[in-house]
Parts: sequence; structure tokens; C-alpha cells
Amino acid sequence: MTRPTVLVVGGGISGLASAWTLRGVADVTVLESTDRLGGKIETTTFRSRPLDLGPDAFIVRNRAGLALCEELGLGPDLIEPSSRSAAIYARGHLRAFPERLVFGIPTDVGALYRSHVVSPWGVLRVLRDRFARHPLVTRALAEEVRAGRADPTVGEILSARFGPMVVSSLIDPLIGGINASDVAKLSFSSAMPTIFDQIVDQPSVMRALRHRGDAPSDSSGSIFRGLRGGMSTMVDALADALRGHGTKIVCGESVLALSRGASGAFVLECDSGLRMADAVILATPAFTSADLVATLSPELARELRAIEYAGVATATFAWQRDDIPRKVAHELQSLKDQEIATGDATSSAVLLPGSGVLVARDARMLTTATSFTSTKWPRSAVRDEVVVRASAGRHGDQRVATMGDDELVLAIREEIAQVLGITAEPLEVVVKRWPRSFPQYGAGHAERVRRIDAIAKETGIGLVGAAYHGIGIPSCIAHAQEVAERLVEQFNPRGDGSETTGR
Ligand SMILES: Cc1cc2nc3c(=O)[nH]c(=O)nc-3n(C[C@H](O)[C@H](O)[C@H](O)COP(=O)(O)OP(=O)(O)OC[C@H]3O[C@@H](n4cnc5c(N)ncnc54)[C@H](O)[C@@H]3O)c2cc1C
Repeated sequence: MTRPTVLVVGGGISGLASAWTLRGVADVTVLESTDRLGGKIETTTFRSRPLDLGPDAFIVRNRAGLALCEELGLGPDLIEPSSRSAAIYARGHLRAFPERLVFGIPTDVGALYRSHVVSPWGVLRVLRDRFARHPLVTRALAEEVRAGRADPTVGEILSARFGPMVVSSLIDPLIGGINASDVAKLSFSSAMPTIFDQIVDQPSVMRALRHRGDAPSDSSGSIFRGLRGGMSTMVDALADALRGHGTKIVCGESVLALSRGASGAFVLECDSGLRMADAVILATPAFTSADLVATLSPELARELRAIEYAGVATATFAWQRDDIPRKVAHELQSLKDQEIATGDATSSAVLLPGSGVLVARDARMLTTATSFTSTKWPRSAVRDEVVVRASAGRHGDQRVATMGDDELVLAIREEIAQVLGITAEPLEVVVKRWPRSFPQYGAGHAERVRRIDAIAKETGIGLVGAAYHGIGIPSCIAHAQEVAERLVEQFNPRGDGSETTGR
């Protein structure tokens, strides 16, 4: 019996994860336009050590990333960051992140006060939450949100209760930073769905969140995992396993358009000519998927195009250990909550304690965060060198896009000098640009995605990727697998498993 054919467009983690679910069930070909797999996941060699240019870790609360790594035999390669606590540059100084934050939301007023991240007036404002008598998110509002009739932003909801200072100094650097977003435009229910559910009908937000236990200073172990050889290890292992199961992977093959042939089969116009398949999964950014489906469904294309994207850049620097001013080392060390794992930390770790520094929005810097890569991942620096990765740019900030690499590096170095006091000439710098890389879950996102999913189902196209149900790697994997599972059911509606040999 011939197996159905599936073309997966896009060789990022979403495309590869859906192909993995389809192994043994269909004849799958993955088409990737560039000459490498992984999309946003890219590990390079810097100072002879692995350096992640995109994601350097994934969260384990959603188990899809961990489960896939374990399935691929990568369990022993998983590593925890050596340091978890970040500092924040707020109100002109480096400050420790207050303890017991939940997604940047303070749950301990005393810790907030001691951190000096916000002024005493800002702390008083937060204190009011403890005595609040009316829920911030009422049942009626939650109903409106679930029905798609309202979708307040993170900024709207949280500044109403905690004030603008907490939003710009804590919530924006964390939640805005993860999403390269402005929290004033980010949908609360899409960006923080579990928090949204937890605070419905609760008079005090802090009390409702208090026992979540996922604050950065939580002592129960890191909620993140990286990979010893860098995140591309996952992509390489997945690609090898796919090939081992007979999946074809074609790099350097751009898909240009999608249509249906007379027989009902999908026809893909590619660089190398036409390709046909029984089913198609588009694992490309929403704006690319919009172009691909434009003829098949102008309505779907319109919805996909409405998802905005932000571009960012990272600049990674290596410095001689002696170039890090002792003053900043002591300052970071003295910040409350800064912990250094002693196990495998190299001597360079002591110099920049903590995992890095986030920058409060009020500072108006180009840099949104500096990650102390060699402290966080001791394997990433040779002895006597220190590696720091700065991230710049966010939604609505066009400065990164308009700067050349030299100008960008100069601007970031000036900010690093201001925040960390490092003024020495770096040994080496690598700049990586990620234009249109972070889909923005703006107000109305969930409702738009419901419409997209419905039209895609009607059209028979699988749509996966960071644009829809979560931008983190585990969310991308989980959604990609879910969409592929639906295809499996479609191919094998009786669920008798007759075609699933080889799994
Ligand atoms: C700088 C940065 C840091 C991040 N940090 C983290 C982190 O620490 N943890 C975390 O969990 N997530 C992080 N993310 C988010 C996460 O990496 C991404 O959301 C995820 O990797 C997206 O995977 P994807 O497969 O959906 O899309 P992509 O990785 O974008 O893959 C899409 C693929 O489609 C290909 N393609 C495009 N057009 C075509 C075409 N016409 N034909 C064929 N192929 C095409 C592209 O070349 C690409 O390979 C980060 C993202 C960035 C940019």
C-alpha cells in the first residue's frame, strides 16, 4: 500500500518536529530555502567554543522540548545554566532582581523595596494590591476575552494595578524582552495565558501568584536547559534521526507558491520545479506563509500578513579577563540574590556573577539585555577570557535595522561601558541580525489565530511555527506535533496503526 506524501516547508524546529511525528506514516520531504537547518536555532564557533546566536536554552515546564531531546538520545547532553539570577539596570544603576517575581510581577513587597528597582512611591503603589477588594481581571472580563470581544494588553492590565514604574522596570524587561515586544501592545491573555487564568476573580494578584514558585530566584533548580554543544545539537540529531527513518531533507530549495492540482493534490512551485503532495505543512514565518497561500486563500493570506514581526540583533564580545573592571565584578557580586554555581564554573565566572543584566525601558537604550554567556554556560569561554552577548532591538524600535554592523557594535559598546564599565577593546565581536524574527502577539492575537486555524483546516493546509501558539521552542514543538498528529489521524482514520511501523 502506498503511503501518503507530505511536503513540509521550512526546516526550523517546527518543520522538523512535525516531520518527526509523521515518520513511518507518510513519505515526508522537508524543503528548506537556506543551506542549513534550524532556522532561528543556530550555533556557531566563537573563540573555538560553541556559541548560540539565537536561542541558548528552552523552558522545561512545557515538557515538549525535553521529551524530544530525550527521545533523540540527547539526555546526557542537556545542561542547566550555571547561574540563574539576573540583575537589572534601572534608575541609572545596576540592581538585583527582587526575589519571588512571577514573570516580572512582584509577589513580595519587602523584596521589591530592598531591591531599589522602583522608588518607595512605586513600592507603595504595589502594596495596594495586598488590600485590593476588587479583582483586576473579573469573570466578566475573562468571558469577554475568551469570546474574543476584548483583549487587554499586559501594560494596560498590570499598570492599572502596579503602576507604570513596575511595568517599565520589571515586567517590560522580562516579558517584553522574551518577546522583543512593547508590553503596552502585547496581549495579556496570549503572552501570559497561565497568569491570566490564575488571576481571574482574585482581588490580590500577588496573593494569587505567590505559590507558583517560578521566580528567577527559585531554588528548586533551573527551569531552563541548554545543550552542551549548543542548541544546533538538537537540530542535527533530529535531522539525522529523520533521515534514518527515510525522511528526505532538501536544503537550498525555496518554495514560491502553493496551489491545488486537478486531482486535488497540492502543487508546490519550488526553485527546482514543481513538487506534488497529498498534504502540506507550512512551517515558515507567517508573512512567508501568507505569500504561499495567497492564491489558494486570499482570506488566510490576509490574516497571516496581519501578524507583525520585530527584528533584533545580537552582538557577542570576548574580552580578556583582566579587562573586566573589578568594580563591576564586586558590584554584581554584592547584589542580593546573585548566586554562582561552583560546580563547573571557570575562573571567568567570578568576574561577571549572575546570568546577565536586563535593561529597564526607561533607560531608553538600544540594548535590551546583556547575557554573561561565559558565566551562564562555562563551556563557552576559554580560560582567562569572558564572553558577553548583548541583545538589541524590539518591536517599534527601528534603530538596529538602520545601523551598519560597525555603528551597531559601537553603540552597544557605549551602553555596555555605561552599564558594566567595560571600555577595553574586545578580542573579537560577532554580530548576528535576526530581521522579522519575533512574531508579535498583539491585542486580538488569540482570536486571529482561531480564524487562521479554522481557514487552514478548511483549506487542508497545516500551519505550524512560532507565529501562532507560543514562540518558545517547546511551544513550537508541541504545536507542530499536534498539527502533524491530526494529519496522521486523517491518513489513518480508524487508528488501527497499520501504517505506523518503523516508529
Ligand atoms: C535571537 C533569538 C533568541 C531566542 N531565544 C529563545 C530562547 O532562549 N528560548 C526559546 O525557547 N526560544 C527562543 N527564541 C524563539 C525560538 O528560537 C523561535 O521561536 C523558534 O526557533 C522558531 O522556530 P520555527 O521553526 O517556528 O521558525 P524558524 O526557525 O524561523 O524556521 C522557519 C524556516 O523556514 C525557512 N523558510 C522560510 N521561507 C521559506 C520558503 N519559502 N521555502 C522553504 N523554506 C523557507 C527558513 O529559512 C527557516 O529555516 C529566540 C529567537 C531568536 C530570534
